Amino acid sequence: MKLEKNTVLTGELTGPEGMQPAPFKAEISPCSWMYPGYGLQFRVELESGDWTMVTNKAILFDDAEESHAMALIQELKVCPCKKCSQPAFDPSTCLSNRGGVCERCFLKQLRAECEAEQAKEEQKLKRKDARLKKQGFTHRIDAWIHPASGGDDYQVSIWMVNPTEKDIHKELRKLESCEVNDFKKIEL
Ligand SMILES: [Zn+2]
Repeated sequence: MKLEKNTVLTGELTGPEGMQPAPFKAEISPCSWMYPGYGLQFRVELESGDWTMVTNKAILFDDAEESHAMALIQELKVCPCKKCSQPAFDPSTCLSNRGGVCERCFLKQLRAECEAEQAKEEQKLKRKDARLKKQGFTHRIDAWIHPASGGDDYQVSIWMVNPTEKDIHKELRKLESCEVNDFKKIEL
């Protein structure tokens, strides 16, 4: 059967021995019919939401049959996710930075790493607060600097002794911020 522009294929991808085949849904990528000579490309998605692309430059859309597409898609294999054992794409059969981890676990891992990084930063700041308090500082100013010369805004922390609003404005102007009211004053 010839492929249509809106062809959606379903089937199962196999994995290592003993693993249940994983159902997939594959949609043809518009590039396949929009650009002459592009070849055949599909977006293949597992039930968990993991997805990847498969491409074969040698098969043109106009000549493509469903069987070509199925053969191309089934070059993809699945493997049990290293964390939860649910089907994930076998990274040796596709372009993936997931390393054999399913989408859900990958995102969970990413979030955990991000939170750990934030917690570490907070601890660092707290230690610095304590150290500077001993030295006589009374406040930390967390401010956004909006560079007068343009460029990206960035955040700074400044430790001060009983600063008035005017003192803080002065510090922020020294850093060439064109907005000097974008700060939080935290007592140590
Ligand atoms: Zn997983």
